Amino acid sequence: MSNLTIDADRLWSSLMETARFGGTPDGGIRRLTLTEEDRQVRDWLRAQCEALGCTVTVDALGNMFATRPGGDPDALPIAMGSHLDTQPTGGKFDGVLGVLAGLEVLRTLDAAGYVTRRPLMLVNWTNEEGSRFSPAMICSGAYAGAFAVEDVLKRPDAQGIRFGAALEGIGYAGTAPVGSVKFAEMFELHIEQGPVLEHEETTIGIVTGVQGMRWYDLVVEGVAAHAGTTPMKLRRDALATAAELVLAFRRIGLAHGGVATVGEIGVVHASRNVVPGEVHLTLDLRHPEAAALEAMERAVEAELARPDLAGTPVRLTRTWDSPPVVFDAGCVAAVAAGAAAAGYSAREIVSGAGHDSVYAARVVPTSMIFVPCKDGLSHNPAESATPADCAAGAQTLLNAVLARADRTDPE
Ligand SMILES: [Zn+2]
Repeated sequence: MSNLTIDADRLWSSLMETARFGGTPDGGIRRLTLTEEDRQVRDWLRAQCEALGCTVTVDALGNMFATRPGGDPDALPIAMGSHLDTQPTGGKFDGVLGVLAGLEVLRTLDAAGYVTRRPLMLVNWTNEEGSRFSPAMICSGAYAGAFAVEDVLKRPDAQGIRFGAALEGIGYAGTAPVGSVKFAEMFELHIEQGPVLEHEETTIGIVTGVQGMRWYDLVVEGVAAHAGTTPMKLRRDALATAAELVLAFRRIGLAHGGVATVGEIGVVHASRNVVPGEVHLTLDLRHPEAAALEAMERAVEAELARPDLAGTPVRLTRTWDSPPVVFDAGCVAAVAAGAAAAGYSAREIVSGAGHDSVYAARVVPTSMIFVPCKDGLSHNPAESATPADCAAGAQTLLNAVLARADRTDPE
């Protein structure tokens, strides 16, 4: 492994410099995809990459690919990157760190005059957040063939502006067909967006995969009745059943080593002196293993069939199913070796959140690197990562990418 070292100060000042584009007074960033702020940060990135001699290609969904030539012109690039768009109340690190750390890798190699065997590629995926155009990760998804490009271009935002019009409006409707810009492998550095690394005082998360996720809508049917005249034993209280279910789902998450969340609950025609007749709730189940996720779903169904809840039947509808992702063993090993070479504390971790790498992993070997973020917070102006942890993530990225770009085993 080489002894190249990234420039921690240069990385940090780039993070702070780009935080101006959409910066908010509370220290966060509001940089919704395909807005003027997004155009500004894209123009900035393009200029930085071109100054390093990279060729920037933009595809028909605005995904940006900056290629740094390697010694072997026939080899496919090793890619790295993430996203530059943010939530409406976003922070300075979610997504941005992965792109700017990739830029820092390119700058470090440029300063050293180092030419890798394979080319390197820096990727900025469009609309990762999905807060302006739903769903999230739709452009890496289209790259991987999960969404039709025409369908993405037609999607409207809350104002009725179509994705395609917004893309043309900022001048990033590129000419490259989506999926035509090929790379051999993908590495994405990201803040953890959870509390595990910080809690364990570990610097690097070696991401082995992404949890599977299933979303459900539930409707509990009871009978609305007078709160004063209907005896407790004769009630069919939909909210009481929903309360039983919320706690049962919590037990299911704990028992299976997964997570189960009821995030929304609503009483239809709620009134303080009416026994609730109908309640709507959502359920989000996640687990790294497909079989365990399936078992969690069966446990949910068993709860719904409980005899003591028979007076209030429950309808369960699965609205989303995202299978678990297992990252490529070779890429995961490269991240582990990259962290070890730099002497960072590290542990394997499964991502609880979705990322563009979920889709990248459908088409090429992929892995991710996590660094701690303060209190596990993200999608919040208070989102924070230390300069040292950002630098450690970028150094691990450099080490991993370099090892993969210079390796000589067969394609
Ligand atoms: Zn992100």
